[in-house]
Amino acid sequence: MATSEQHSADELFDEFLEDRGHETRGWEESYNKKQCPDCGGLHEATAVECSVCGWRP
Ligand SMILES: [Zn+2]
Repeated sequence: MATSEQHSADELFDEFLEDRGHETRGWEESYNKKQCPDCGGLHEATAVECSVCGWRP
């Protein structure tokens, strides 16, 4: 007699993206201008990203 054992494999889907350590930082404000918290570069209030280091909130 043959006993067949079937093991169902658990399929784990790693769909989770760990955002651990990812902090949302905003612009620093200095004299009505935006200051990049990364490199300290000053930009106009309409700036959407740092033209110096490429940082963006
Ligand atoms: Zn910067």
